[in-house]
Amino acid sequence: MQVLKFGGTSVANATNISLVKQIVSTNTASKKIVVVSALGGVTDLLLRTAAAAAEQDKSYIELLQKIEQRHLETIKELLPIAIQSAVLSRVKSELNVLETLLEGAFLIGEITPKLSDKIVSYGELLSSYIISEYFIAENLKAVYQDSRSLIKTDTVYGKASVDFRETDQRCTAFFNGSQPDIVVMGGFIASSHDGDATTLGRGGSDYSAAIIAAAVNAEALLIWTDVSGMYTANPKVVKQAKAIPHISYEEAMELSHFGAKVLYAPTIQPVLSKGISIVIKNTFDPDAEGTLITKSKNEKGKTVRGISHIGGIALLSLEGPGMVGIPGTSKRFFEVLSQEDISVVLITQASSEHSICVGISALDVDRAVASVNGAFAYEIERQKIKPVIAEKELAVIALVGDNMKQHQGLSGKMFSTLGRNNVNIRVIAQGASERNISAVISEADVKKALNVLHEVFFEENIKQLNLFVMGVGNVGAKFLKQIQQQKAYLRTQLKLNLRVIGISNSRTMAFDEQGIDLENWADVLAKGEKTDSEQFLGNITRLNYRNSIFVDNTASAAVAANYANYLSKSISVVTCNKIACSSEYDAYENLKFLARQYNAPFLFETNVGAGLPIIDTLKHLIASGDVILKIQAVLSGSLNFVFNNFDQNSTFHDIVKQAQEEGFTEPDPKIDLSGIDVMRKILILARESGHRLEIEDIENKSFLPQESLDTDNNTDFFASLIKHEASFQKMYAEAIAADSKLKYVAQFENGKASVGLQHIPKDHDFYNLEGSDNIVLFFTERYPDQPMIIKGAGAGADVTASGIFADIIRIGNF
Ligand code: ADP
Ligand code: ASP
Ligand code: MG
Repeated sequence: MQVLKFGGTSVANATNISLVKQIVSTNTASKKIVVVSALGGVTDLLLRTAAAAAEQDKSYIELLQKIEQRHLETIKELLPIAIQSAVLSRVKSELNVLETLLEGAFLIGEITPKLSDKIVSYGELLSSYIISEYFIAENLKAVYQDSRSLIKTDTVYGKASVDFRETDQRCTAFFNGSQPDIVVMGGFIASSHDGDATTLGRGGSDYSAAIIAAAVNAEALLIWTDVSGMYTANPKVVKQAKAIPHISYEEAMELSHFGAKVLYAPTIQPVLSKGISIVIKNTFDPDAEGTLITKSKNEKGKTVRGISHIGGIALLSLEGPGMVGIPGTSKRFFEVLSQEDISVVLITQASSEHSICVGISALDVDRAVASVNGAFAYEIERQKIKPVIAEKELAVIALVGDNMKQHQGLSGKMFSTLGRNNVNIRVIAQGASERNISAVISEADVKKALNVLHEVFFEENIKQLNLFVMGVGNVGAKFLKQIQQQKAYLRTQLKLNLRVIGISNSRTMAFDEQGIDLENWADVLAKGEKTDSEQFLGNITRLNYRNSIFVDNTASAAVAANYANYLSKSISVVTCNKIACSSEYDAYENLKFLARQYNAPFLFETNVGAGLPIIDTLKHLIASGDVILKIQAVLSGSLNFVFNNFDQNSTFHDIVKQAQEEGFTEPDPKIDLSGIDVMRKILILARESGHRLEIEDIENKSFLPQESLDTDNNTDFFASLIKHEASFQKMYAEAIAADSKLKYVAQFENGKASVGLQHIPKDHDFYNLEGSDNIVLFFTERYPDQPMIIKGAGAGADVTASGIFADIIRIGNF
């Protein structure tokens, strides 16, 4: 004999019920007991209808009509016309009784738990009857059985306790008799010894099936639902979750106790004692393996088997000096809660005995506070104990696994992962069985917490990085293209999953929680909403994704001014915008501080030498104990381009214009030509070498005539270059005469930095610097005479984009 239980979604409508029939008829067991839930959503509807009636709200009538319609439609779709009318008339007459009950509640404006159970039992009564008639109509040897006459309980309405002795006797008597191969009954419902309808708690159809399976010593209990088994985490919250092929009773119980709704927690107990295995299967994918739950231990080497969570939790803390050394305080505390029928999900007590803290359902919190304060009124008045403190909007998350106790470091890994992702932990509890480690966190952090924990414990270290990109011009567009090209490689080779969730330019911004389609980002952006930088940050904060990275591809001071707000929300910042790192030292230092404080890297490799690994190399030199003695560098791709191309056959104006047109200068070329850009770069290198320097401390021997420096727009600037052509030609001629080339050099030594045009002789490392290349010489204690040299293209959208990309990868490996 096998017991097959089908949940609400599996019997939600005629189409689904026909799949159920398919499964039942292909099952090879000679005898089958089919336990069904109410049509999906009907229990909720019944409860809403009852609540409306009790509040004397006439909308209960419409709700009742909806319930009626669901059932009548299902019958009409399922059953051949010939037998429809008999079934319809019985169902209608049941619905009439239901209507009378609801009218009663409406008239007196009240509903008792007993009446509520009577009303709600109609869900399973009707579904089981309809399904049995359908089976019979499809020529299955089936019969309907009212579960209320088999399962007997006490009168704790809403969540009654089963009288197993009587239930077992009744089941044995009934199933020993001769009856057709298939018995169809409703789950969830039972009756008291007086014959009143009772229910076994929400989700209780699983439990009914287990009670029957144990009573008849079934070979197996099959739970058919809408997912392919018990997953490593709720698949609706964690996309990467996978079905667990084999799990022990205890693990399954622990997972369901902590919120894995796929199995109602009390279900395990009756079958565990009889050693009956449970299989969880998917009605909509019957070939999927599902989850087998048995006594046997879980697979070798597996520690954490699943992660679950319960939302809607409140913490109740009782504390005060009067608790220390006074026996019985906790006993009284729990007694009060138990008298109020409030169940405790989790308990922690500090060893100082100074405080005790429990997690309960938020629905119970007001009652709990009032009764605990009442019980301790005497101590509270004398200030021996403080009034109880309640915190709401919390959730419990739990790691579960039988083998967890044999492994050190799991809780460390759990809490450091949460900490790194800025999930604040309110309370920690570890069961004495060590089968579970749980923590109370804010409800708003649940999705992030489950996903990061899942990533760390189950996903072969595939790390998800969530990017929010501001600025999609030259560099930004190249960057998005590179991500798109490399996505597959990063996933397979580096175990990084990159998703661009938000993009923005100065006009519009767009978000897609699933990740923006990078083939069509321009269209997506064009259809976006108006850019609002506050809202951009607001959206990232609201989404609360782990590993969120803000990427700034702009040159905007306003955008840079916002970095502190990002970092202090644990959002990493990657930028090619030099403004933040070259503004006041205190601001730069504050960003570095926030990055450490909030575990959110702040990376700006492209601030110096575009994609060349200059800052990263400097960091590694310093981290390994080396000391920077001197930096000499050509750091302006634009100026190098200009001086490499300028000669007696061209004009300075034309070369600068060409550099601007080819994208080698900032939009405002004066920023490059005046040396400001180079000053910012050497400033950043000096700061990264550990020196406290401001931009004013840098000496700038500008080669530009004062008139050019004084212009305030591009037109005037270019005009001044034409006017002063002779002075540029003179500079060139002097260099040739000295057998040298002109290079704009930045230097840092003995705490002092300077920038300026220099004659570079033939034997110098800088002499053969081509095109827009950059070069940096690091003279350090370990490289005192022959410097460490980094050289290569130092400007251009492609290399800058790849430098940003490299920073993203660094965060991925962080
Ligand atoms: P049924 O109506 O068939 O009893 P339920 O809705 O009670 O189905 O339970 C199935 C649901 O449980 C799934 O759709 C899923 O959203 C939820 N769930 C929560 N945690 C888990 C988990 N760890 N594994 C599988 N499902 C889970
Ligand atoms: N129909 C009941 C509920 O929704 C029981 C069940 O489906 O398991 O809670
Ligand atoms: Mg269920």
